[in-house]
Amino acid sequence: MIPYGKQNINKSDLDEVLKVLTSDFLTQGPKVPLFESEVKKIVSSKFAFALNSATSALHIACLSLGLKEGDSLWTSPNSFVASANCGLYCGAKVDFVDIDPFTFNMDMKLLELKLEEAKKNNELPKIIVPVHMAGLSCDMKELKKLSKKYKFKIIEDASHAIGSKYNNNPVGNCLYSDVTVFSFHPVKIVTTGEGGIATTNDRMIAKKIDILRTHGITKNPLNMKNKLHGPWYFEQHDLGFNYRMSDIHAALGLSQLKRLNKFTKKRNQIAKNYELLLKGLPLRSQKIANSYFSSYHLYIIRLNLEQIEKSKEAIFHSLRKKGIGVQVHYIPIHYHPFFQELNFKKGDFPNTEKYYEEALSLPIYPDLKKSEQLKVVKALKECIT
Ligand SMILES: *Cc1c(COP(=O)(O)O)cnc(C)c1O
Repeated sequence: MIPYGKQNINKSDLDEVLKVLTSDFLTQGPKVPLFESEVKKIVSSKFAFALNSATSALHIACLSLGLKEGDSLWTSPNSFVASANCGLYCGAKVDFVDIDPFTFNMDMKLLELKLEEAKKNNELPKIIVPVHMAGLSCDMKELKKLSKKYKFKIIEDASHAIGSKYNNNPVGNCLYSDVTVFSFHPVKIVTTGEGGIATTNDRMIAKKIDILRTHGITKNPLNMKNKLHGPWYFEQHDLGFNYRMSDIHAALGLSQLKRLNKFTKKRNQIAKNYELLLKGLPLRSQKIANSYFSSYHLYIIRLNLEQIEKSKEAIFHSLRKKGIGVQVHYIPIHYHPFFQELNFKKGDFPNTEKYYEEALSLPIYPDLKKSEQLKVVKALKECIT
């Protein structure tokens, strides 16, 4: 089976992980700060905090911005559930803004309309979480403009988008946001096994994220509220978590980051091939404007089902039978029973729902061979023409 995504692990990755395993520190050693420095350099942010997942990063990013009961958080319904769950963890209300049918990202015009409506009812969100679908940045300038008018904070869910660019700026530099979150799950662009990172340029937010990832505990003598009992002394100031990344994971990440450019180049090459090979078929791919560079975490097509005799489910089945590991990103968040219990229903976000009926993710990952790609296209052609 040709999977839809796959990590690339080389000899250096193995060596670097092995070095940590035979060193004095498996966690809280030198690799985590090195990994953070490297990410800071790549994305041009002032601060970066390595964490055990992007989900943890989203959670404490929300807390660091003061999200609590009575507040609300809005995100895209076309995402992994974690983009919404972070709001619920903090006791906030979650709502969604429908997508643009061409970029598959949150639609800024629909957002503006929803904000205007919310303003009338005194229900403006405290935080908006734009999701950079498949690696394509949202229209961050527009979002930032709206955030000034309607006074909300922005956390970028850039789980798909390390190595992506927006107007020639690296995603993660937080030029248009308060915090950016990346994931290092194995299907994403680079991996640490499990892992995530939060970047920010704001010193106060940075301080909060730093303390919340390690139980709300501080060991800095300058920060103590009480008199020091002795050199062993530390204090808990907040209800934090153990969301730290280990040195084993960070070593893998450091080694992987050296190949980030290679990975995104290769993914873009594969996407370009698909574009040429799929020309003329009853389908379309994500629309990416000139000022954007996508890291191409996913290659998503939308099937024009009016011109195809089979259903998407039948197409999915036959592709799987032919050894093509297609996937669907995403089941709309508001379709999940958990969210339906929160009173969301089918029909709430029609663009996302239509997208879901048509969307299929084709295999894309650095080691995908040209011959495999041709096999994918051949199989797809057989299914839909
Ligand atoms: C993968 C993913 C997450 C969660 O990342 P983890 O590191 O697995 O916690 C969150 N949001 C989106 C959009 C993702 O794709």
